[in-house]
Amino acid sequence: MLFTELGLSQKVLSAVDSAGYKEPTPIQAQAIPHVLERRDVIGIAQTGTGKTASFVLPMLSLLEKGRARARMPRTLIIEPTRELAAQVEQNFVIYGQNHKLTVALLIGGVSFDEQNKKLDRGADVLIATPGRLLDHVERGKLLLTGVDIMVIDEADRMLDMGFIPDIERICRLVPFTRQTLFFSATMSPEIQKLTGQFLQNPVQVQVDSKATTAETVRQVLVSSPSTPKDKRETLRREIRAAKNLTTAIVFCNRKRDVSTVHRSLQRHGFDAGALHGDLDQRERMATLAKFRAGELNLLIASDVAARGLDIPAVSHVFNFDVPTHAEDYIHRIGRTGRAGREGDAITIVTSADRKYLSSIEKLIGKAIPTRDGVADTGAAPSGAADAGVSDGSAEAPVSRDAPKETAPRGRRKRGGSRSEAKAEAAPAEKSPAEKSPAERPRRKDEPRSAKSGRGKSRSDSDAPVVGLGEHVPSFLLRPVRRSPESSE
Ligand code: AMP
Repeated sequence: MLFTELGLSQKVLSAVDSAGYKEPTPIQAQAIPHVLERRDVIGIAQTGTGKTASFVLPMLSLLEKGRARARMPRTLIIEPTRELAAQVEQNFVIYGQNHKLTVALLIGGVSFDEQNKKLDRGADVLIATPGRLLDHVERGKLLLTGVDIMVIDEADRMLDMGFIPDIERICRLVPFTRQTLFFSATMSPEIQKLTGQFLQNPVQVQVDSKATTAETVRQVLVSSPSTPKDKRETLRREIRAAKNLTTAIVFCNRKRDVSTVHRSLQRHGFDAGALHGDLDQRERMATLAKFRAGELNLLIASDVAARGLDIPAVSHVFNFDVPTHAEDYIHRIGRTGRAGREGDAITIVTSADRKYLSSIEKLIGKAIPTRDGVADTGAAPSGAADAGVSDGSAEAPVSRDAPKETAPRGRRKRGGSRSEAKAEAAPAEKSPAEKSPAERPRRKDEPRSAKSGRGKSRSDSDAPVVGLGEHVPSFLLRPVRRSPESSE
């Protein structure tokens, strides 16, 4: 399928060409012709599938006819988070480079004045979060009666965030005759009810998130003792070991942990920024801008804050915690491996996480390989290789995996272990995510003797002293062999 077969205008096609896209993604190929036919569309697709362009491109084509009127936007896009709204605005900038359209962004945390001015000038496209949109309506600054096309994006997240009553209100403020485009990664009964209520004779298009996930993202589980300190140590080891890490997002389940992990990583010399709901909008935007510009390699984030972020270059996702909602796992790992690129998703698992893990595996329809499982990675478990121990299982004694130590294999598969031991030893080894790019990790085949003098740990601010040698003993890496309490 070619973009030229979809019915898009010349202006849009030339912008797509400038963006360097060769062919439409499946959601684009399926949705765009229906949008251009003015049908209501339900798109079941997660972020990373190219779904934003699947509505932005045909909207641009349709907007070529007509003009905006003051305070009466012609189209409306509702997004659950400010970041996502800002990102959709960026899409209009990129794909709308040949159009002279006015795009207004109405998000919380920034002044009303600027937003009012934009509305007064007349907006072709209004992108908004629900709360701020309704604030403007209530202040009498905005009329939604001119809206021709309404997009409800990330509806399942709107549901999670409690926005459904706002969405229902907004739908009632927009003309009944509008065209509605509705996107959600999943179709829960509540979401279905919403579409039944507000869409008219919709076509449903779907891209299989399972296939998308499986094809482009290498997923792996890494066992860790469950104390926060141990988990942070496991995380550092995995970051240092990560192969070809350019930028990464580290997900935590709780805001509190976002802050702790962020500070801890900074203390250990990583270029890390934090993103969670308690930070003010300016800070969030500044952190995101730095991350996009590559000034920060690591972004520590909560699910809500990171929702829908489109940062094409994210090479790795680290789950500091296994998400308690299985769908969040799909969203998180969707941050990497986007639009056909390869990516790595590394999930730290403690014994307490098993039940969440099984619902994730059920949802994605496959088992995620563990580092100490032979399947897929074929790697020694993190923490073991460098130390000369095996995969951490009793059935795999030192001697069995010992050759892996010297075999010239992929760094990611073994490097974690090596890095961990190094982290305990001296500050000499830094991952690409650490502050001094000049100080790259030593080569994997470098003798471990280089780690002598391990008495002073650079990670001693929050890592326990390892007293059993230069490695993490294998039993610490095997939740089944350890009672959770014993490590607390
Ligand atoms: P989205 O799912 O909308 O967040 O898009 C994910 C990423 O895919 C964005 O970085 C887009 O720039 C990129 N993208 C969108 N459409 C295409 C395409 N047809 N070919 C290649 N990349 C695309």
